[in-house]
Amino acid sequence: MNAIALMPQMMPQSKSCQYQGFTIWFTGLSGAGKSTISAVLHDELKRRDIKHEILDGDVVRTNLSKGLSFSKEDRDTNIRRIGFVCNLLSRNGIIAIAAAISPYREVREQVRDQIDHFVEVFVKCPLEVCEERDVKGLYKKARNGEISHFTGISDPYEPPMDPEVVCETQNETPRESADKILAKLRELGYIEW
Ligand code: ADP
Repeated sequence: MNAIALMPQMMPQSKSCQYQGFTIWFTGLSGAGKSTISAVLHDELKRRDIKHEILDGDVVRTNLSKGLSFSKEDRDTNIRRIGFVCNLLSRNGIIAIAAAISPYREVREQVRDQIDHFVEVFVKCPLEVCEERDVKGLYKKARNGEISHFTGISDPYEPPMDPEVVCETQNETPRESADKILAKLRELGYIEW
C-alpha cells in the first residue's frame, strides 16, 4: 500500500473546504472572557464565510455532556468529548473553537496531543475581577455555598504553562484580545488575512 495515501494532509480536499482546519482552545476562569472573545472571532469568520463551530462549555453541558457533574473525573470526560468533536471538525477543514473552563492541565495536554493544529489561548483574568464581573451570578452562589466545586473558589484551576496566546482581559478590550489571536493564527500560517 502506498504510505502517502494514508496521510490525511495529502488527501484531496473538497472544493467547499478551502481552509485548513484547526482548533482554537480557550481556557480560563468563569467570566474571564472566553465566550466574549469567541463571539468576536465568530463575527470575523462569518463575515468571511469561513466554516467554523463554537463549542461553548455551557452549551455542551446541556447536550453532549448532559448529566456530567463537576467532579474532576466528569470535567475531564467533558473536555475529552469536546476535544473529540474539535478533532473531527478541524481535520475536516472546519475551524473549531472550544470555550470551556477546562481547568486541568493534563487533560488539556491530552487533547492537544490528539489534534494536529491546536492553538491554546489562555484567557487570563484575576479571580477578583471575574468575581466582580460575575456575569452569570455564579460567583455569588459559590461564595454562599449554593454551588460546590466552583473553579477558582472551591475547585482548582491550573493555568497553562506554554499557551500559544495569552489574553489579559483585565487590561484589553475583547477586540484587542481577538486581534492577538488572529495575529498568532497568521504567524502560524493558519489564516492569510
Ligand atoms: P467566560 O465565557 O470566560 O465565562 P464571558 O465571556 O461570559 O466569560 O464574560 C466575560 C465578561 O468580561 C463579559 O462581560 C465581557 O464584556 C467582559 N470583558 C471585559 N474585557 C474583556 C476582554 N478583553 N475579553 C473578553 N471579555 C471581556
